[in-house]
Amino acid sequence: MKYQVDEKGFYGEFGGAYVPEILYATVRNLQEQYREIIETEAFQQEYHALLKDYVGRPSPLYYARRMSERYGCRLYLKREDLNHTGAHKINNTIGQILLAKKMGKTRIIAETGAGQHGVATATVCALMGMRCEVFMGATDVERQHTNVERMRMLGAEVHPVRTGNMTLSDACSEAIRDWCCHPADTFYIVGSTMGPHPYPDLVARMQSVISEEIKWQLQEQTGRDYPDYLVACIGGGSNAAGTIYHYMDDERVKIVLAEAGGHGWDTDHTAATIHRGTTGILHGAKMLVMQDDDGQIQEAFTISAGLDYPGVGPMHCHMAKQGRTTVLSINDDEAIRAGYELTRMEGIIPAIESAHAIAALQKMTLKTDDVVVLTVSGRGDKDVETYLKNKSLAGEYGNF
Ligand SMILES: *Cc1c(COP(=O)(O)O)cnc(C)c1O
Repeated sequence: MKYQVDEKGFYGEFGGAYVPEILYATVRNLQEQYREIIETEAFQQEYHALLKDYVGRPSPLYYARRMSERYGCRLYLKREDLNHTGAHKINNTIGQILLAKKMGKTRIIAETGAGQHGVATATVCALMGMRCEVFMGATDVERQHTNVERMRMLGAEVHPVRTGNMTLSDACSEAIRDWCCHPADTFYIVGSTMGPHPYPDLVARMQSVISEEIKWQLQEQTGRDYPDYLVACIGGGSNAAGTIYHYMDDERVKIVLAEAGGHGWDTDHTAATIHRGTTGILHGAKMLVMQDDDGQIQEAFTISAGLDYPGVGPMHCHMAKQGRTTVLSINDDEAIRAGYELTRMEGIIPAIESAHAIAALQKMTLKTDDVVVLTVSGRGDKDVETYLKNKSLAGEYGNF
């Protein structure tokens, strides 16, 4: 249990709960209750029934034959793109809304960047008949208009945030501000393994269904319940946390994570926080953040709206520092090319976030009998326009 959260909410030096005094009691209450509630049989039953019949789990573990031949390994894709709403995010929002209900909360708030977490939250609020308000940077509201319309159609109120760069980081700050004003009746559904303790652990547990399934699916398909490599993309870190959860302490399994390099981790246009960040406090937790010498948060840059965050969850900061994970920085052009490659080789259009994980394959040294499980965190429908605009980066796949 070397990489699990401790009682104080820390992963090594990272994590904790740095919240304004007015939220202290609310966060404390959540810290004290979350494990007890989610471990009850009633909760587990309701959660797993919804994952099965509503989300469509288990998601397939698919042996990608042509990609395996290309990369000289045995590549299995964990298909989170096939979940309801098109990504892994709903695993977490289903769990958190059940927790909110059990805690007697009546109003849900959430932050969103690209809109994927906003849509997943608005979806479960419609399902449960709960009031839903989503904070989204004004820039993102414009860039991700379809997701805004989806949220509105689902009955959520979308608040454009006009502070700072008007993107994800500002939306998080605004959601925390709203929470401060309504701590009694409001539950904040956080979208990734970030935020004050217990959120990183709570979100990791909700996403851990991914590796729970990988275990028995691998056993069934290969006769062995662990892979040689796990590969996932990493923004805040939730799909990565879910992918590795049941293998964290199993040193036979090597873990490779792909963060968004943008134009390159050593340029001013990057979101590669583990490569570039220094220790700081952002949105309630100590983690690696991209900041200037005065501790002001620097804007993240990447072609992928879902990885566009200047921090990264404390669990991943700790694991990377301990050398348990290998974190690669994947640039925009590499991700675009990899997205096209998966599309043409396997007939799967991945989210650009997930394409970062695909691009990691060519930077790995693989043997033909290595079993590699790579999580496709989401589907690429939302990104078709971006793929087409950037087809000049797609190499041999761009001639159409
Ligand atoms: C939000 C999102 C991500 C990044 O978030 P994590 O918390 O790092 O998983 C990755 N892929 C998709 C498809 C997303 O929607």
